[in-house]
Amino acid sequence: MTGVLVVTGASRGIGAATAKLAARKGWSVVVNYLGDQAAANAVTADIIDSGGAALSVKGDVSDPAGVEAIFRAADSLGPLAGLVNNAGVVDQPARVEDMTAERLARMFAINITGSFLCAGAAIRRMSTRQGGAGGAIVNVASAASKLGSPGLFVDYAASKGAIDTFTIGLALEVAAEGIRVNAVRPGVIDTEIHASGGMPDRARDIAGSTPLGRAGTADEVARAVLWLLSDEASYSTGSFVTVSGGRALTP
Ligand code: NAP
Repeated sequence: MTGVLVVTGASRGIGAATAKLAARKGWSVVVNYLGDQAAANAVTADIIDSGGAALSVKGDVSDPAGVEAIFRAADSLGPLAGLVNNAGVVDQPARVEDMTAERLARMFAINITGSFLCAGAAIRRMSTRQGGAGGAIVNVASAASKLGSPGLFVDYAASKGAIDTFTIGLALEVAAEGIRVNAVRPGVIDTEIHASGGMPDRARDIAGSTPLGRAGTADEVARAVLWLLSDEASYSTGSFVTVSGGRALTP
C-alpha cells in the first residue's frame, strides 16, 4: 500500500529520513514543519529531484488550525493513506519540582495533543466507516516511556507513555475500520533534538551504555516506520517496534 502520507515534523531528524524513504517507496509525502521552512523545502526538493511527489506545509500540530492546514495540503495530493505522528519536543534537563506549568503545557500539547489531533484528521479521511479506503498510522514513541528519564525530563518520558497508551487504544478503536495503528520506540538517535534539550553530545555520550555500542541513526528508525506503514505489516496493529540498540527492552 502507498498513497498520500503525512509526516509531521519532517524538516529534520527522524521525520526527514522517514519522508525521504517513504517517497523512495512510492508514497506522496506531506513534509510538515513548524519553524524551519528552508530545511523542509530542502527535504521536499530532494524528493522531487529523485522523481517523487512531495510538498512542505507549515503547521503547528498542537493547533487545530495548523492541523487543518496540514491535511488540506494532503487532500491536494490525493486520498490520504498514512500518517506518521513524528513531531515532538524535549526541554532542558530539570527535576519535576522545577518544571513550570508553561513547560508542561507546551510539552504535552505538542507531544500528546498534536498526535491526537493529527490522528483525528487522518481517521476522518481514512476510516471505512466514514467512506475512506483505510490506511496506517505510525506513532513515534520513545524508549524514555520505559526508562522514565529521571533528573532529565520525566515530563517528556510521561508524554511518550501517553503515546504508548494512545497507540493501543486507537489501534483497537479503529481496527474494524481498515486502519492499523502502531508505534516505533526509538532509543537515543543521533539527531538535533538533543541539542535542543541542552545535551548536544548525548548521542556520543550514550554509546558506551548502549548494548549495541552506539546511538542509532534517523534512517534506522525510518526503516521501521516504513515497515509498519507497509502491507508487510498487515497483521500488526497496536504493536511496538523498539529501535534502541538494546536499551529499555521492557515490553
Ligand atoms: P528533531 O530533530 O528535534 O526534529 C523535530 C521536528 O519536529 C522538526 O522537524 C520540527 O520542525 C518539528 N516540530 C517541533 N515542534 C513542532 C510542532 N509543534 N508542530 C509541527 N512540527 C514540529 O527531533 P527527532 O530527534 O527527529 O525526533 C522526532 C521524534 O522522535 C520526536 O517525537 C521525538 O520525541 C522522537 N524520539 C527521538 C529520539 C532521539 O533520540 N532523537 C528518541 C526517541 C524518540 P521545525 O524544525 O521546522 O521547527
